[in-house]
Amino acid sequence: MKILVINAGSSSIKYALFKFPSKKCLLKGSVEKIGEKQSYHYYQVKNKPLEKQKLKLENPTQAFKIIIEMLKKIKLSLSQLDAMAHRVVHGGEYFQQPTIINPKTLEQLRKLIPLAPLHNPANILGIEMAIKLAPTLKQVAVFDTAFHYSLPPYIARYPIPDNWYKQHNIRRYGFHGISHFYVAKQAAKRLNKPLKKLNLISLHLGNGASACAIQQGVSIDTSMGFTPQEGLMMGTRGGDLDSSIYPYLTEKTHLSINDINRILNHESGLKAIAGSNDMRDIHQLIKKGDKKAKLAFEMYCYRIKKYIGAYYAILGQVDALIFTGGIGENDAKLRDKCCYHLEHLNISIHPKKNQTISSENRSIHHNHYKTAVLVIKTDEELEIASQTVEFLSLNGKNRREY
Ligand code: ADP
Repeated sequence: MKILVINAGSSSIKYALFKFPSKKCLLKGSVEKIGEKQSYHYYQVKNKPLEKQKLKLENPTQAFKIIIEMLKKIKLSLSQLDAMAHRVVHGGEYFQQPTIINPKTLEQLRKLIPLAPLHNPANILGIEMAIKLAPTLKQVAVFDTAFHYSLPPYIARYPIPDNWYKQHNIRRYGFHGISHFYVAKQAAKRLNKPLKKLNLISLHLGNGASACAIQQGVSIDTSMGFTPQEGLMMGTRGGDLDSSIYPYLTEKTHLSINDINRILNHESGLKAIAGSNDMRDIHQLIKKGDKKAKLAFEMYCYRIKKYIGAYYAILGQVDALIFTGGIGENDAKLRDKCCYHLEHLNISIHPKKNQTISSENRSIHHNHYKTAVLVIKTDEELEIASQTVEFLSLNGKNRREY
């Protein structure tokens, strides 16, 4: 089977082509800064070096044409694919597993736009373009919220008026589910145990960041909630905040709710405190003695550590703590700080293993501590493709097995 994965954002489209059952990646790339003065196309054919093209792309349709050209370059056409798989950020309460796109499901997806106005419209646009370009090809949606469908009601619900949930669907949904599920399965392989026998804490730390408590292979709590704004401090998002800040600010400043929301999404987090949302810059600034960068790093790590403690408490026993995402996979100092003095929770990082630079999945704990600490490279595109293949081979009738 050949599956083309499309991950369409507001100004970029990531794509990857996989061949199954080998799970070999034949092609992957991203078209970035669509609609800006200068757009870029990064791509890699099989294991060849990464290539970069400078382009002028006015709209996502032109970006899609680039992707189809790339297929031609590797001597494939759309008609040779088995399906296109689309990442959709918000599946609401309706979509619990991968779903075939048809007029009914597309309509249902459109109804979810108010729940994820920053993400779902771009995802849907990607799906609509794919249908236009390949009307006979199967299109499958895979959801970032689906892995958290298992959150029990006492964790999913907010303690707010019941009709806010019933009429407006305000509850915790959780995100990054594709990544948390993928790294959890990789951890199970590494620990040589079935996922359904494992308790895990997964930390996805990229531009967005979230923690997930996984009990017997199933997500039971996660730090992101109604939107991807809740929880950990992130690159440009504030994470957990006192909701009284909103009315207070609208009263005390000229800011509208929309302004505040934009600032909380795009100008908060590391960027607000240290002036950069890139953790590599933060470390450079700290080296130069920058106090704001040091504060930002301490705030960022403190919140992660607090969530580790909370999830340890609810899980009782933890087989592994997983670091993933651009920061989680690469930042040894951060991993060290987040796990500092957690020996009483059976967590202890081995400094040498932690500092070893590698792109391989690895264990970085002292072997005599019960909780493994793992660095696992996430691969959301491969997970989307794998879920799609599983869905198509089950003919969409059965729920997935953990
Ligand atoms: P996204 O969430 O957009 O997929 P990534 O998972 O690629 O992003 O993570 C991006 C972040 O990873 C960057 O903002 C950067 O802060 C961080 N990062 C990448 N490499 C390193 C590194 N070597 N050390 C620390 N942080 C890094």
